[in-house]
Amino acid sequence: MDLPALHAELRPELSAALLGVLDGERVLLGPRLATFERDWAAAVGARSAVGVGSGLDALSLGLRALGVAPGEEVLVPSHTFIATWLAVIQVGAVPVPVDVSPVTGRWEVDAVTAAVGPRTRAILPVHLYGHPVDLGPLMALAARHGLAVLDDAAQAHGATLRGRPVGGLAHATAWSFYPGKNLGALGDGGAVTTSDPEVADRVRSLRNYGSTEKYRHDEVGYNSRLDELQAAVLSVKLSRLGEFNDRRAQIARRYEEALAGLDLRLPTIADWATPVWHLYVVRTPHRDALRSHLAARGVETGIHYPVPPHRQPAFAGTPLADAALPVADALAREVLSLPIGPHLPESAQERVVDAIRTFRP
Ligand SMILES: *Cc1c(COP(=O)(O)O)cnc(C)c1O
Repeated sequence: MDLPALHAELRPELSAALLGVLDGERVLLGPRLATFERDWAAAVGARSAVGVGSGLDALSLGLRALGVAPGEEVLVPSHTFIATWLAVIQVGAVPVPVDVSPVTGRWEVDAVTAAVGPRTRAILPVHLYGHPVDLGPLMALAARHGLAVLDDAAQAHGATLRGRPVGGLAHATAWSFYPGKNLGALGDGGAVTTSDPEVADRVRSLRNYGSTEKYRHDEVGYNSRLDELQAAVLSVKLSRLGEFNDRRAQIARRYEEALAGLDLRLPTIADWATPVWHLYVVRTPHRDALRSHLAARGVETGIHYPVPPHRQPAFAGTPLADAALPVADALAREVLSLPIGPHLPESAQERVVDAIRTFRP
């Protein structure tokens, strides 16, 4: 993600937005937040959006708003950024990891169905890398067992599933506006979208000290608000989100064409999904050698993620460290994220492809 190039392209609009806050009366819970919340809810097909301080907070406040209580279990994917698991732990609940598919690397409904137990209270699918999880069967599963579904859409701004946007399909959806996401602020930010007015009200209260009326506190809340500066920046960037996602999709198509037939597993796309290519992740058992080969040719790559959550030192000595999640372990050894972003020039994409083509394990 080339932030300087992004900021340069949007400089006049971003400057005007920032100065507007300087000239305004409110810096928190003001009109720019209300505007962004209205527009973001509309963009994702939900009734409400509630801005919060980060993606992690969107997840934990979302879980609390859905009624997930301490000691209850939440099914989470084995292969995700650690924040998905941390949010469950922060509300006192217990993450129960379910391994992803060895074929697609994604969370498939059969494995999730098999993992539902008597203490399961909620399901937390993650639209990792920008490719949606199939929410239809998951919502049906949840309805059969009386479970809540909160989806982690931190990497999926604009993704659609059978033509419908992610964000209005589960009971609530958590978003991150970390600067490197497809829709990013100039600092931390997040939001919860939902079409359930009670859930929206609950997040609004939780983000503001458990209060809806000044100096009256109905519950033990947090301080986690999306400020006016970030909301103003996000409104500018939202107006270009579709175009920036299109540029990412074009790069993904080029990689797919140019890298087909090589000894490399390219990302697959479900026929019902339109991903937004937050990351373009290939798989190879020779990952580390390929990565060095590319680095030597000036191509920067990433690994998302080198250590799966259950192997993190933070969970050493806890039952999470004993989980058998072989696919997550294999992915941590094999995944490699190629350069992608709305400001990656064609010449750079060609250099990436040429460098990969000269690789011999
Ligand atoms: C970025 C991210 C988060 C956390 O978002 P923050 O805004 O950094 O707190 C959660 N889940 C996933 C999948 C992410 O990529």
